[in-house]
Formats: sequence, C-alpha cells, structure tokens
Amino acid sequence: MLSVTKARERILSQFHATTEESIPLIECANRVLFVDITAAHDLPLFDNSSMDGFAIRAVDSLNAAASRLTLNVVADIPAGSAPTVILAQGEAARIMTGAQLPEGADAVIPVEDTDFNSRDAGTAAPQTVSFSRIANMGENVRPRGMDLHAGEVVLQKGRRLKAQDLGLLAMLGIAHVQVHKKPRVALLSSGDELLEVDAPLTAGKIHDSNSYALAALIQNAEADVLRLGVAKDRRESVASLLQKAVNEHVDLIVSSAGVSVGAFDFVKEVIESNGKLDFWRVNMRPGKPLAFGEYLGIPFIGLPGNPVSAFVGFEVFVRPVLDQLSSQLDGNRFTVKVRCEEEIESDGRESYLRAKIRNENGVNVAVLTGHQGSGNLLSLVQADALLIIPAGVKCVPVGQEVEAILL
Ligand code: AMP
Ligand code: MG
Repeated sequence: MLSVTKARERILSQFHATTEESIPLIECANRVLFVDITAAHDLPLFDNSSMDGFAIRAVDSLNAAASRLTLNVVADIPAGSAPTVILAQGEAARIMTGAQLPEGADAVIPVEDTDFNSRDAGTAAPQTVSFSRIANMGENVRPRGMDLHAGEVVLQKGRRLKAQDLGLLAMLGIAHVQVHKKPRVALLSSGDELLEVDAPLTAGKIHDSNSYALAALIQNAEADVLRLGVAKDRRESVASLLQKAVNEHVDLIVSSAGVSVGAFDFVKEVIESNGKLDFWRVNMRPGKPLAFGEYLGIPFIGLPGNPVSAFVGFEVFVRPVLDQLSSQLDGNRFTVKVRCEEEIESDGRESYLRAKIRNENGVNVAVLTGHQGSGNLLSLVQADALLIIPAGVKCVPVGQEVEAILL
C-alpha cells in the first residue's frame, strides 16, 4: 500500500504553478505574488514629525532645562504641505504629525510640552512658543528611509498577500500587482442516490453534500470552482459533465465517489477511456481508495464518496496541489501539537481523526468528537482539528502529543 507521503509526492510531481496576471491592488488580498516586490523609494520618503508640536533645532534647547526657552514661530507646517523655511537659531515651526520637517530642524517638541494651547488659539499658529526642557536630536522625527530603503525586496514572490501587505504596496504606489492566476477546479459528484439540495428526498436518496463542502474548501484555498453537478451512474452522464471541464480548460478535475470497485462506478471507466487513471490504495484512514490520472490532458483526482473521506482527501491531497498551483511559499494548513486526553486506538494506517481542542493552562488538549465513521459529517462539524495518528501506530496513550491540522 502507498504511504500518504508517497502518494502526495507522486501527485504533486505532475503540477506546475499557474501563469501570471496583473490585477488592481484592491483585488489582491489572498492572492499569491508572482514576483518579488522591490521598493521604488524610501519609506518614509521625507523626514517627518511623529507628533503634533514644534520643529526646532535641538541645539537651541540645551539651556531650556535651566531657564524657560522662547522661540519665534516662523512657519506653520500642516500635514501634506512642503515647508519653505530654513530654521535659523532661535526659530521654531509649528508642525503636525506626518508633516515634512523644515530644513535646519532636527527635533520636535510635542505641543503638550509647550505653553501653546490649541484649544484656546483655534487653528492659528502662535507668534512664539516656550518650553522648559531639553530636546534630543532626532526626537519625534521619523527620518527618511527609517522603515525601508529604495531597492529593498519588501515582499517575496510566493507570498499570499495579507491586508497589511496591500497597505505596504499602496504606500509604495503600486497600483497593479503581478500575481499567480487563481487555479480553476472543476468539481463533480456522482451517484444515482444523489439529489440536489432543494429536491425533496424520496426513498433511497440523499442530498449531494460533497459538492457543497468541497466547493467551499476549494474557494477557501483561493481557487475558483466550476461545479459540474451530479453525474448519474451512467457513462454518458459522466462524460457529458466532464466535457464542460474540458471546454473550460480547468487546471484540475476533482470528483467524489464512483471510483471504487462498485458495479456502477463509471467515473473510473470514462476517465480511462479518454485518458489514464491510476487507482491507488493509500495507507490512510479515512479514504483508502484514491484515484489519480488525467482526462483529455487535464489532471484528475478522484476522492472517495463518503463525506468525511472526501473532506480528508481534499486536505491531504487536493489542498497541497492548489498551493503548488499558485506557488504559495508557506505551504498548506497550519499544524499544531496537541495532547490526547483519551486513549486512541488506530489500525496502523495514517489516520486523520476528528477532535475538539481546548486550551488548558497553555496546553492544547484534544478529545475525539464521537464515532469516526466516514459518513458521520456531524463529528467533523463539531471538530476543531484533525489529529494525525502516524502509520504503524496502533494505540496512542493518554497524555501523548500528536500533530493536528487545525480546521
Ligand atoms: P461510492 O464511492 O459511490 O461507493 O460512495 C460511497 C458513499 O459515499 C456512499 O454512501 C454514497 O452515498 C456516499 N456519497 C457519494 N457521493 C456523495 C455526495 N456527493 N454527497 C454525499 N454522499 C455521497
Ligand atoms: Mg456511488
């Protein structure tokens, strides 16, 4: 039987990153950078004040601790204006936070430390300002280039862009960004028992739930989903739905069910007739059967039909493919170490078990969410994580730590 790691490696070896597109900055959240971003200018771009106050020459204040110092206010510099004065000895300029420091100034005395009370004065600047403390050189000044310098790489290719990244790109005046195209995934359900979610249930039927859960997983992995719908257990039905995926040139076809050894598992047959299909028994639980191949040149992953197996199969095999397609550096889901609060039996396969996690005195403690049948979706709904019980382990004793994928 194939190990999970080997199966994943074989799958990943078949995928290359998507090409690039340039999109407006406002659409870039969660997209993956195609190129390194280099700053075209320093940040901040000019020496500026970090306080509302008075720009001065620090040297003028050397004796201000002994006797109160009064300076002539020769300019008023609101944020956004360019100072025109050069401060001479004994002079100050009123300045607002973020405003450019006038030449000659090298410190800012906050308004709170002066005799000036803007509530009484309104918006006008005073003629003079006095204070009685020494200012250090550079005090309350954000010098040019303090945060970063022109030419520095500030964001690396392969990074999934966060909100703060968009802010930084805006600071650098980058209006359009080269990102990887979103991977596009066609999603197929199959089975004569499956009804659309709004169809009334009749004898022997169930609602198609996989195409909702899997579509959400695909979108949440920042890929676009093309829902092909439900194929009947007939060759023509499967083939006609797959044709839509071919017409749309998707990057990947994902199906659930119809690829095991049942008499009506036609997905397998149809794929094989127009491509190739490897059928693997992967050493994992849930979801031992896994199909991987291609249909008319498009990669195909066939997940098991049982809802929990399909979900786990997605996390273990499909999500890494989507990460690789978008060339994301930081890989797939976040894992943490958790301590098992109960003894867990396993059958020696690499097992993914649904568990609730709570924090107890700084330790993550895990308890299973009920029976682990692969059709029991509620136990997945109640779970915060999938515990990974490694292959070869038959029993995890109470108190042992295992790795867990946070959901
Ligand atoms: P199969 O792989 O076709 O043998 O299906 C295995 C199990 O998964 C059966 O109990 C199916 O009814 C169930 N199943 C298959 N597809 C879906 C689906 N799209 N939504 C919910 N359950 C499904
Ligand atoms: Mg079936």
